[in-house]
Amino acid sequence: MLKYDSYYFQCPHCQAWLEGRNLKAEMVNQSILYSDGKVLNDNLITTPQKMIMCPSCGHIFWIEHPVEPLITYEKPDVEVYSWNTWRFFGISFSDNKGKMALINHYKTFLKKSHYDPKKEIYLRRFLWWAYNDLHRNHQHVRLKYLLNGFMSFGVWHCNRKLILEGEKLFLKNHKDFTENLKRLLALLEKHPGEQIDLEVPEIYRELRQFDKAKELLEQVGSRTHFTNEMLRHSKWKDSRVFMVTG
Ligand SMILES: [Zn+2]
Repeated sequence: MLKYDSYYFQCPHCQAWLEGRNLKAEMVNQSILYSDGKVLNDNLITTPQKMIMCPSCGHIFWIEHPVEPLITYEKPDVEVYSWNTWRFFGISFSDNKGKMALINHYKTFLKKSHYDPKKEIYLRRFLWWAYNDLHRNHQHVRLKYLLNGFMSFGVWHCNRKLILEGEKLFLKNHKDFTENLKRLLALLEKHPGEQIDLEVPEIYRELRQFDKAKELLEQVGSRTHFTNEMLRHSKWKDSRVFMVTG
């Protein structure tokens, strides 16, 4: 059975048809939450892509809410660009080159135009996550993951190389990462309605302002596994993104 519901929409510039997908929540086997708020369901990001670059003409447009009549669930009787052709601008993430290409896309978008605060927050949040993708599963480099039997030596070794290489790229781009995060923080503090869960203390933690992160976390009314984990990492002075549950 298909795990997705497909929907269709048109590029406002060249009228090409594009296919979008909604993951069926009831069919998800595994859900992973990371400290930066990124959620993966069966390895796919759950936050919808609002900014789209048409795979046919390159026109950039936004779909804030994929609802009818902007979209249709009826497959049109013409050729349709599949989800993979425009999702994350058609980039493949099997290596770090793809991850860097995505970062550069967001950076270019931000440089090229001026966006309203909501859109700028969206782009800067995705840019933040894209930087973190370079070393997102850093815990997998540990020998423990091989010894636990989660993966074969070949897979573990290959994956380890990819993450360590990603970590180097992350450090090389750390100045840009920090600049983006500071700008995102300023926007979120000005527009608190746009904040997601524990995003603000997490940003302070990733900016290595551990005391501020701890102060904000200690103000959170009901303690959860998420707040406790973030407090722990702040106390360790660890600024790297980590897996909260998964
Ligand atoms: Zn187009």
